[in-house]
Amino acid sequence: MNSRLRSFALLVLFAAFALGSAQAQPAIQPTVDITQVPAAAQPSAHFDANAATEAYMAMIPPAATTRSNAYFEGGYWLILWDFLYASAVCLLLLNLRWSAKMRDLAERITRFKWLQDAIYWGQYVLLTFVLGYPLEFYENYVREHKYGLATQSFGPWMGDEGKSLLISLVLGAIMVVVLFAIVRKLPRTWWIWGSLAVMALFVVVIAISPVYIQPIFNKITRLNDPKVTAPILRMAHANGIPTNDVYQIDASRQTTRISANVSGFAGTTRITLNDNLLRRGSLEEIQAVTGHEMGHYVMNHIPKGIFFMSVVIVLFFACLRWALAWTLECWGARWQIRDITDPAVLPLVFLLAGIFFFVLTPVMNTETRMHEKEADMFGLNVARQPDGFAQAAIHLSEYRKMRPGKWEERIFFDHPSGYDRIHSAMVWKGENLELFEKPPEQPAAH
Ligand SMILES: [Zn+2]
Repeated sequence: MNSRLRSFALLVLFAAFALGSAQAQPAIQPTVDITQVPAAAQPSAHFDANAATEAYMAMIPPAATTRSNAYFEGGYWLILWDFLYASAVCLLLLNLRWSAKMRDLAERITRFKWLQDAIYWGQYVLLTFVLGYPLEFYENYVREHKYGLATQSFGPWMGDEGKSLLISLVLGAIMVVVLFAIVRKLPRTWWIWGSLAVMALFVVVIAISPVYIQPIFNKITRLNDPKVTAPILRMAHANGIPTNDVYQIDASRQTTRISANVSGFAGTTRITLNDNLLRRGSLEEIQAVTGHEMGHYVMNHIPKGIFFMSVVIVLFFACLRWALAWTLECWGARWQIRDITDPAVLPLVFLLAGIFFFVLTPVMNTETRMHEKEADMFGLNVARQPDGFAQAAIHLSEYRKMRPGKWEERIFFDHPSGYDRIHSAMVWKGENLELFEKPPEQPAAH
Protein backbone atom coordinates (compact mmCIF):
# COMPACT_ATOMS: atom_id res chain seq x y z
CA MET A 1 0.00 0.00 0.00
CA ASN A 2 1.34 3.48 -0.78
CA SER A 3 1.43 6.14 1.92
CA ARG A 4 -1.62 8.10 0.73
CA LEU A 5 -3.66 4.95 0.90
CA ARG A 6 -2.29 4.11 4.34
CA SER A 7 -3.28 7.49 5.76
CA PHE A 8 -6.74 7.13 4.22
CA ALA A 9 -7.11 3.72 5.87
CA LEU A 10 -6.05 5.10 9.24
CA LEU A 11 -8.43 8.03 8.88
CA VAL A 12 -11.38 5.73 8.12
CA LEU A 13 -10.58 3.48 11.08
CA PHE A 14 -10.12 6.44 13.40
CA ALA A 15 -13.44 8.00 12.33
CA ALA A 16 -15.13 4.64 12.82
CA PHE A 17 -13.77 4.30 16.36
CA ALA A 18 -14.89 7.83 17.24
CA LEU A 19 -18.37 7.30 15.77
CA GLY A 20 -18.57 3.84 17.26
CA SER A 21 -17.94 4.94 20.82
CA ALA A 22 -20.55 7.68 20.42
CA GLN A 23 -23.06 5.16 19.05
CA ALA A 24 -22.74 2.57 21.82
CA GLN A 25 -26.10 2.16 23.50
CA PRO A 26 -27.56 -0.14 26.13
CA ALA A 27 -29.57 -3.13 24.91
CA ILE A 28 -32.92 -2.09 23.46
CA GLN A 29 -36.19 -3.44 24.78
CA PRO A 30 -38.13 -5.70 22.39
CA THR A 31 -40.84 -3.95 20.39
CA VAL A 32 -43.68 -6.43 20.75
CA ASP A 33 -44.03 -9.47 22.96
CA ILE A 34 -47.43 -11.04 22.44
CA THR A 35 -48.29 -14.10 24.43
CA GLN A 36 -52.07 -14.16 24.39
CA VAL A 37 -54.49 -15.35 21.72
CA PRO A 38 -56.82 -12.57 20.52
CA ALA A 39 -60.59 -13.14 20.84
CA ALA A 40 -61.18 -13.57 17.10
CA ALA A 41 -58.52 -16.33 16.98
CA GLN A 42 -60.09 -18.35 19.82
CA PRO A 43 -61.73 -21.61 18.70
CA SER A 44 -65.45 -21.18 18.12
CA ALA A 45 -68.26 -22.35 15.83
CA HIS A 46 -67.80 -19.24 13.65
CA PHE A 47 -63.98 -19.20 13.55
CA ASP A 48 -62.86 -17.25 10.49
CA ALA A 49 -59.20 -17.44 9.37
CA ASN A 50 -59.22 -13.95 7.82
CA ALA A 51 -60.72 -12.35 10.92
CA ALA A 52 -58.29 -14.24 13.16
CA THR A 53 -55.35 -13.05 11.02
CA GLU A 54 -56.53 -9.44 11.20
CA ALA A 55 -56.96 -9.75 14.97
CA TYR A 56 -53.31 -10.79 15.26
CA MET A 57 -52.21 -8.03 12.89
CA ALA A 58 -54.12 -5.49 15.01
CA MET A 59 -52.03 -6.45 18.05
CA ILE A 60 -48.90 -4.91 16.52
CA PRO A 61 -48.63 -1.26 17.58
CA PRO A 62 -48.76 1.08 14.53
CA ALA A 63 -45.46 2.68 15.56
CA ALA A 64 -43.78 -0.75 15.48
CA THR A 65 -45.18 -1.39 11.99
CA THR A 66 -43.94 1.99 10.74
CA ARG A 67 -40.51 1.24 12.14
CA SER A 68 -40.16 -2.27 10.70
CA ASN A 69 -41.52 -1.13 7.31
CA ALA A 70 -38.90 1.62 7.23
CA TYR A 71 -36.17 -0.87 8.18
CA PHE A 72 -37.18 -3.46 5.62
CA GLU A 73 -37.84 -1.04 2.74
CA GLY A 74 -34.49 0.61 3.46
CA GLY A 75 -33.06 -2.86 2.86
CA TYR A 76 -34.34 -2.81 -0.75
CA TRP A 77 -32.20 0.27 -1.39
CA LEU A 78 -29.25 -1.26 0.39
CA ILE A 79 -29.25 -4.10 -2.16
CA LEU A 80 -28.70 -1.41 -4.81
CA TRP A 81 -26.17 0.65 -2.79
CA ASP A 82 -24.18 -2.48 -1.85
CA PHE A 83 -24.00 -3.41 -5.51
CA LEU A 84 -23.04 0.07 -6.71
CA TYR A 85 -20.51 0.60 -3.92
CA ALA A 86 -18.81 -2.76 -4.47
CA SER A 87 -18.71 -2.12 -8.22
CA ALA A 88 -17.14 1.30 -7.63
CA VAL A 89 -14.46 -0.25 -5.41
CA CYS A 90 -13.64 -2.86 -8.10
CA LEU A 91 -13.46 -0.19 -10.81
CA LEU A 92 -11.21 1.92 -8.62
CA LEU A 93 -8.76 -0.97 -8.12
CA LEU A 94 -8.72 -1.62 -11.86
CA ASN A 95 -8.55 1.95 -13.19
CA LEU A 96 -5.96 3.24 -10.74
CA ARG A 97 -4.03 0.00 -11.46
CA TRP A 98 -3.82 -0.79 -7.76
CA SER A 99 -4.70 -4.35 -8.66
CA ALA A 100 -1.72 -4.56 -11.03
CA LYS A 101 0.52 -3.01 -8.37
CA MET A 102 -0.55 -5.59 -5.78
CA ARG A 103 0.36 -8.32 -8.27
CA ASP A 104 3.74 -6.72 -8.96
CA LEU A 105 4.44 -6.62 -5.24
CA ALA A 106 3.47 -10.31 -4.86
CA GLU A 107 5.83 -11.17 -7.73
CA ARG A 108 8.69 -9.26 -6.12
CA ILE A 109 8.20 -11.19 -2.85
CA THR A 110 8.23 -14.73 -4.28
CA ARG A 111 8.63 -16.62 -7.53
CA PHE A 112 6.14 -19.36 -6.59
CA LYS A 113 2.91 -18.78 -8.52
CA TRP A 114 0.62 -20.18 -5.84
CA LEU A 115 2.23 -18.03 -3.16
CA GLN A 116 1.91 -14.97 -5.40
CA ASP A 117 -1.83 -15.68 -5.67
CA ALA A 118 -2.13 -15.98 -1.88
CA ILE A 119 -0.14 -12.79 -1.26
CA TYR A 120 -2.24 -10.94 -3.82
CA TRP A 121 -5.36 -12.20 -2.02
CA GLY A 122 -4.09 -10.98 1.34
CA GLN A 123 -3.58 -7.46 -0.02
CA TYR A 124 -6.90 -7.56 -1.85
CA VAL A 125 -8.89 -8.54 1.26
CA LEU A 126 -7.26 -5.89 3.45
CA LEU A 127 -7.64 -3.13 0.88
CA THR A 128 -11.31 -3.92 0.07
CA PHE A 129 -12.04 -4.19 3.81
CA VAL A 130 -10.77 -0.66 4.31
CA LEU A 131 -12.47 0.75 1.20
CA GLY A 132 -15.75 -1.03 2.00
CA TYR A 133 -15.66 -0.12 5.67
CA PRO A 134 -17.82 3.06 5.61
CA LEU A 135 -20.80 1.21 4.10
CA GLU A 136 -20.22 -1.88 6.25
CA PHE A 137 -20.13 0.27 9.38
CA TYR A 138 -23.30 2.12 8.45
CA GLU A 139 -25.22 -0.95 7.36
CA ASN A 140 -24.29 -3.41 10.08
CA TYR A 141 -23.54 -1.17 13.03
CA VAL A 142 -25.19 2.27 12.86
CA ARG A 143 -28.37 1.14 11.14
CA GLU A 144 -28.83 -2.02 13.25
CA HIS A 145 -28.49 0.08 16.41
CA LYS A 146 -30.85 2.72 15.11
CA TYR A 147 -33.59 0.10 14.74
CA GLY A 148 -32.84 -1.57 18.05
CA LEU A 149 -31.73 -4.85 16.45
CA ALA A 150 -28.09 -4.83 17.54
CA THR A 151 -26.81 -5.42 21.07
CA GLN A 152 -23.05 -5.04 20.60
CA SER A 153 -21.04 -1.97 21.50
CA PHE A 154 -18.37 -0.93 19.04
CA GLY A 155 -15.41 -2.88 20.47
CA PRO A 156 -16.97 -6.36 20.34
CA TRP A 157 -18.58 -5.56 16.97
CA MET A 158 -15.21 -4.60 15.55
CA GLY A 159 -13.79 -7.77 17.10
CA ASP A 160 -16.32 -9.85 15.14
CA GLU A 161 -15.44 -7.90 11.98
CA GLY A 162 -11.80 -8.78 12.56
CA LYS A 163 -12.65 -12.47 12.96
CA SER A 164 -14.68 -12.45 9.71
CA LEU A 165 -11.75 -10.77 7.99
CA LEU A 166 -9.39 -13.53 9.15
CA ILE A 167 -11.82 -16.24 8.00
CA SER A 168 -12.09 -14.70 4.54
CA LEU A 169 -8.31 -14.32 4.40
CA VAL A 170 -7.81 -18.04 5.06
CA LEU A 171 -10.77 -19.63 3.22
CA GLY A 172 -10.51 -17.14 0.35
CA ALA A 173 -6.77 -17.79 -0.05
CA ILE A 174 -7.44 -21.54 -0.40
CA MET A 175 -10.12 -20.85 -3.01
CA VAL A 176 -8.02 -18.37 -4.98
CA VAL A 177 -4.93 -20.61 -5.04
CA VAL A 178 -6.99 -23.61 -6.22
CA LEU A 179 -8.90 -21.59 -8.85
CA PHE A 180 -5.80 -20.04 -10.43
CA ALA A 181 -4.08 -23.43 -10.47
CA ILE A 182 -7.09 -24.77 -12.40
CA VAL A 183 -7.12 -21.80 -14.80
CA ARG A 184 -3.40 -22.30 -15.56
CA LYS A 185 -3.61 -26.09 -15.99
CA LEU A 186 -6.86 -26.24 -17.94
CA PRO A 187 -7.10 -23.07 -20.05
CA ARG A 188 -10.07 -24.36 -22.08
CA THR A 189 -12.24 -26.10 -19.53
CA TRP A 190 -11.32 -24.13 -16.39
CA TRP A 191 -14.84 -22.79 -16.03
CA ILE A 192 -16.27 -26.31 -15.52
CA TRP A 193 -13.60 -27.44 -13.03
CA GLY A 194 -13.62 -24.02 -11.40
CA SER A 195 -17.33 -24.22 -10.67
CA LEU A 196 -16.84 -27.71 -9.23
CA ALA A 197 -14.10 -26.40 -6.94
CA VAL A 198 -16.28 -23.51 -5.73
CA MET A 199 -19.15 -25.92 -5.03
CA ALA A 200 -16.86 -28.26 -3.10
CA LEU A 201 -15.65 -25.41 -0.88
CA PHE A 202 -19.25 -24.28 -0.43
CA VAL A 203 -20.26 -27.75 0.82
CA VAL A 204 -17.24 -27.99 3.14
CA VAL A 205 -18.03 -24.58 4.68
CA ILE A 206 -21.68 -25.56 5.27
CA ALA A 207 -20.58 -28.84 6.86
CA ILE A 208 -17.93 -27.40 9.19
CA SER A 209 -19.69 -24.13 10.02
CA PRO A 210 -21.80 -25.28 13.05
CA VAL A 211 -18.82 -27.00 14.68
CA TYR A 212 -15.83 -24.88 13.64
CA ILE A 213 -17.00 -21.45 12.45
CA GLN A 214 -20.02 -20.52 14.60
CA PRO A 215 -18.13 -21.10 17.89
CA ILE A 216 -15.61 -18.45 16.80
CA PHE A 217 -18.37 -15.87 17.21
CA ASN A 218 -20.76 -17.37 19.78
CA LYS A 219 -20.95 -19.73 22.72
CA ILE A 220 -22.99 -22.89 22.13
CA THR A 221 -24.05 -24.87 25.18
CA ARG A 222 -26.31 -27.82 25.91
CA LEU A 223 -29.82 -26.80 26.93
CA ASN A 224 -30.86 -28.56 30.13
CA ASP A 225 -34.47 -27.52 30.60
CA PRO A 226 -36.77 -30.53 30.14
CA LYS A 227 -39.81 -28.22 29.98
CA VAL A 228 -38.39 -26.89 26.70
CA THR A 229 -36.42 -29.87 25.41
CA ALA A 230 -38.89 -32.74 26.04
CA PRO A 231 -41.61 -31.62 23.57
CA ILE A 232 -38.91 -30.69 21.02
CA LEU A 233 -37.21 -34.09 21.23
CA ARG A 234 -40.60 -35.83 20.97
CA MET A 235 -41.24 -33.86 17.78
CA ALA A 236 -37.75 -34.72 16.49
CA HIS A 237 -38.05 -38.44 17.14
CA ALA A 238 -41.56 -38.60 15.67
CA ASN A 239 -40.14 -37.14 12.44
CA GLY A 240 -36.98 -39.22 12.07
CA ILE A 241 -34.45 -36.65 13.29
CA PRO A 242 -31.66 -38.68 14.93
CA THR A 243 -30.67 -36.56 17.91
CA ASN A 244 -31.01 -36.54 21.69
CA ASP A 245 -29.52 -33.10 22.25
CA VAL A 246 -30.85 -29.59 22.15
CA TYR A 247 -28.33 -26.75 22.23
CA GLN A 248 -28.59 -23.04 22.79
CA ILE A 249 -26.51 -20.28 21.23
CA ASP A 250 -25.96 -16.83 22.76
CA ALA A 251 -27.13 -14.89 19.70
CA SER A 252 -28.12 -12.04 22.03
CA ARG A 253 -24.42 -11.20 22.01
CA GLN A 254 -25.00 -9.61 18.59
CA THR A 255 -28.72 -9.20 18.01
CA THR A 256 -32.29 -9.19 19.36
CA ARG A 257 -33.55 -11.41 16.52
CA ILE A 258 -35.11 -14.78 17.37
CA SER A 259 -33.99 -17.90 15.51
CA ALA A 260 -33.27 -21.63 15.64
CA ASN A 261 -31.81 -24.30 13.39
CA VAL A 262 -31.34 -28.01 12.86
CA SER A 263 -27.87 -28.75 11.49
CA GLY A 264 -25.35 -31.48 10.88
CA PHE A 265 -25.09 -34.88 9.26
CA ALA A 266 -25.59 -38.45 10.43
CA GLY A 267 -23.69 -38.44 13.73
CA THR A 268 -23.63 -34.69 14.38
CA THR A 269 -27.30 -33.80 13.95
CA ARG A 270 -28.31 -31.20 16.50
CA ILE A 271 -31.10 -28.76 17.23
CA THR A 272 -29.97 -25.28 18.27
CA LEU A 273 -32.25 -22.58 19.69
CA ASN A 274 -31.04 -19.04 20.06
CA ASP A 275 -31.32 -17.45 23.48
CA ASN A 276 -33.55 -14.62 22.21
CA LEU A 277 -36.16 -17.21 21.27
CA LEU A 278 -35.79 -18.93 24.66
CA ARG A 279 -36.06 -15.64 26.53
CA ARG A 280 -38.82 -13.98 24.53
CA GLY A 281 -40.88 -16.84 23.15
CA SER A 282 -43.68 -18.77 24.84
CA LEU A 283 -43.30 -22.57 24.89
CA GLU A 284 -45.86 -22.71 22.05
CA GLU A 285 -43.79 -20.26 20.02
CA ILE A 286 -40.56 -22.18 20.65
CA GLN A 287 -42.21 -25.39 19.43
CA ALA A 288 -43.66 -23.64 16.37
CA VAL A 289 -40.26 -22.24 15.38
CA THR A 290 -38.47 -25.53 16.02
CA GLY A 291 -41.09 -27.40 13.97
CA HIS A 292 -40.33 -25.05 11.06
CA GLU A 293 -36.57 -25.70 11.36
CA MET A 294 -37.17 -29.45 11.48
CA GLY A 295 -39.02 -29.03 8.19
CA HIS A 296 -35.82 -27.74 6.55
CA TYR A 297 -33.97 -30.80 7.82
CA VAL A 298 -36.56 -33.48 7.03
CA MET A 299 -37.29 -32.08 3.55
CA ASN A 300 -33.55 -31.91 2.74
CA HIS A 301 -33.54 -28.19 2.04
CA ILE A 302 -29.78 -27.92 2.51
CA PRO A 303 -28.92 -30.54 -0.17
CA LYS A 304 -31.60 -29.07 -2.44
CA GLY A 305 -30.21 -25.59 -1.85
CA ILE A 306 -26.72 -26.84 -2.66
CA PHE A 307 -28.01 -28.38 -5.89
CA PHE A 308 -29.70 -25.12 -6.85
CA MET A 309 -26.52 -23.17 -6.04
CA SER A 310 -24.50 -25.61 -8.18
CA VAL A 311 -26.65 -24.80 -11.19
CA VAL A 312 -26.28 -21.07 -10.48
CA ILE A 313 -22.51 -21.36 -10.06
CA VAL A 314 -22.01 -23.31 -13.30
CA LEU A 315 -24.14 -20.71 -15.08
CA PHE A 316 -22.07 -17.95 -13.50
CA PHE A 317 -18.78 -19.51 -14.58
CA ALA A 318 -20.07 -19.94 -18.13
CA CYS A 319 -21.01 -16.24 -18.23
CA LEU A 320 -17.73 -15.32 -16.54
CA ARG A 321 -15.65 -17.06 -19.20
CA TRP A 322 -17.36 -15.14 -21.94
CA ALA A 323 -17.44 -11.79 -20.07
CA LEU A 324 -13.76 -11.99 -19.05
CA ALA A 325 -12.66 -12.63 -22.62
CA TRP A 326 -14.61 -9.62 -23.81
CA THR A 327 -13.67 -7.14 -21.05
CA LEU A 328 -9.97 -8.09 -21.14
CA GLU A 329 -9.97 -7.63 -24.90
CA CYS A 330 -11.33 -4.10 -24.45
CA TRP A 331 -9.63 -2.87 -21.26
CA GLY A 332 -7.05 -5.49 -20.24
CA ALA A 333 -4.08 -3.41 -21.43
CA ARG A 334 -5.34 -0.28 -19.73
CA TRP A 335 -5.76 -2.13 -16.41
CA GLN A 336 -2.38 -3.88 -16.94
CA ILE A 337 -3.96 -7.32 -16.60
CA ARG A 338 -2.03 -9.85 -18.70
CA ASP A 339 -4.69 -12.56 -19.04
CA ILE A 340 -7.05 -14.67 -16.96
CA THR A 341 -4.16 -16.47 -15.24
CA ASP A 342 -3.07 -13.13 -13.73
CA PRO A 343 -4.33 -12.61 -10.13
CA ALA A 344 -4.74 -8.90 -10.95
CA VAL A 345 -7.91 -9.98 -12.76
CA LEU A 346 -9.72 -10.59 -9.43
CA PRO A 347 -11.45 -7.19 -9.04
CA LEU A 348 -12.89 -7.73 -12.52
CA VAL A 349 -14.14 -11.19 -11.49
CA PHE A 350 -15.82 -9.69 -8.41
CA LEU A 351 -17.30 -6.87 -10.49
CA LEU A 352 -18.86 -9.38 -12.91
CA ALA A 353 -20.03 -11.59 -10.02
CA GLY A 354 -21.68 -8.54 -8.45
CA ILE A 355 -23.61 -7.80 -11.64
CA PHE A 356 -24.63 -11.46 -12.07
CA PHE A 357 -25.93 -11.94 -8.53
CA PHE A 358 -27.56 -8.50 -8.41
CA VAL A 359 -29.66 -9.38 -11.45
CA LEU A 360 -30.44 -12.78 -9.95
CA THR A 361 -31.67 -11.36 -6.59
CA PRO A 362 -35.40 -12.10 -7.18
CA VAL A 363 -34.61 -15.64 -8.41
CA MET A 364 -32.46 -16.44 -5.37
CA ASN A 365 -35.07 -14.95 -3.03
CA THR A 366 -37.86 -16.94 -4.64
CA GLU A 367 -35.97 -20.22 -4.38
CA THR A 368 -35.38 -19.63 -0.65
CA ARG A 369 -38.93 -18.39 -0.07
CA MET A 370 -40.39 -21.57 -1.59
CA HIS A 371 -38.39 -23.68 0.86
CA GLU A 372 -39.44 -21.44 3.74
CA LYS A 373 -43.08 -21.80 2.80
CA GLU A 374 -42.70 -25.60 2.78
CA ALA A 375 -41.02 -25.49 6.19
CA ASP A 376 -43.88 -23.31 7.49
CA MET A 377 -46.45 -25.92 6.49
CA PHE A 378 -44.31 -28.75 7.88
CA GLY A 379 -43.88 -26.84 11.17
CA LEU A 380 -47.63 -26.25 11.53
CA ASN A 381 -48.31 -29.93 10.96
CA VAL A 382 -45.75 -31.26 13.43
CA ALA A 383 -45.83 -28.63 16.18
CA ARG A 384 -49.60 -28.03 15.98
CA GLN A 385 -49.08 -24.60 17.50
CA PRO A 386 -50.71 -22.15 15.06
CA ASP A 387 -50.93 -19.43 17.74
CA GLY A 388 -47.28 -19.93 18.67
CA PHE A 389 -46.47 -19.66 14.98
CA ALA A 390 -48.47 -16.40 14.69
CA GLN A 391 -46.57 -15.04 17.68
CA ALA A 392 -43.26 -15.95 16.06
CA ALA A 393 -44.35 -14.14 12.87
CA ILE A 394 -45.04 -11.06 14.98
CA HIS A 395 -41.63 -11.27 16.66
CA LEU A 396 -40.04 -11.55 13.22
CA SER A 397 -42.01 -8.48 12.11
CA GLU A 398 -39.52 -6.38 14.06
CA TYR A 399 -37.24 -6.53 11.03
CA ARG A 400 -39.53 -7.70 8.24
CA LYS A 401 -42.42 -5.88 6.61
CA MET A 402 -45.66 -7.63 7.62
CA ARG A 403 -47.93 -6.84 4.69
CA PRO A 404 -46.05 -6.27 1.40
CA GLY A 405 -47.57 -6.00 -2.07
CA LYS A 406 -47.66 -9.15 -4.20
CA TRP A 407 -44.68 -8.20 -6.42
CA GLU A 408 -42.80 -6.69 -3.54
CA GLU A 409 -42.97 -10.09 -1.82
CA ARG A 410 -41.90 -11.94 -4.97
CA ILE A 411 -38.86 -9.73 -5.60
CA PHE A 412 -37.54 -8.87 -2.15
CA PHE A 413 -38.75 -11.52 0.32
CA ASP A 414 -36.68 -14.61 1.04
CA HIS A 415 -39.31 -15.73 3.58
CA PRO A 416 -43.11 -15.57 3.34
CA SER A 417 -44.39 -12.23 4.71
CA GLY A 418 -45.66 -12.04 8.29
CA TYR A 419 -49.23 -11.66 7.07
CA ASP A 420 -48.92 -14.77 4.91
CA ARG A 421 -47.46 -16.76 7.82
CA ILE A 422 -50.19 -15.77 10.28
CA HIS A 423 -52.83 -16.45 7.63
CA SER A 424 -51.45 -19.95 6.92
CA ALA A 425 -51.44 -20.63 10.67
CA MET A 426 -55.02 -19.45 11.08
CA VAL A 427 -56.25 -21.46 8.08
CA TRP A 428 -54.53 -24.50 9.62
CA LYS A 429 -56.16 -23.77 12.97
CA GLY A 430 -59.59 -23.38 11.35
CA GLU A 431 -59.27 -26.86 9.83
CA ASN A 432 -58.12 -28.39 13.15
CA LEU A 433 -60.39 -26.65 15.64
CA GLU A 434 -61.13 -29.85 17.54
CA LEU A 435 -57.50 -29.79 18.83
CA PHE A 436 -58.12 -26.50 20.56
CA GLU A 437 -61.65 -26.84 21.95
CA LYS A 438 -61.69 -27.54 25.64
CA PRO A 439 -63.58 -30.75 26.53
CA PRO A 440 -67.00 -29.98 28.04
CA GLU A 441 -66.87 -29.93 31.83
CA GLN A 442 -67.79 -33.24 33.42
CA PRO A 443 -70.53 -33.11 36.06
CA ALA A 444 -68.88 -33.58 39.43
CA ALA A 445 -69.06 -37.15 40.73
CA HIS A 446 -71.15 -37.73 43.79
ZN1 LIG B 1 -36.66 -21.31 7.68
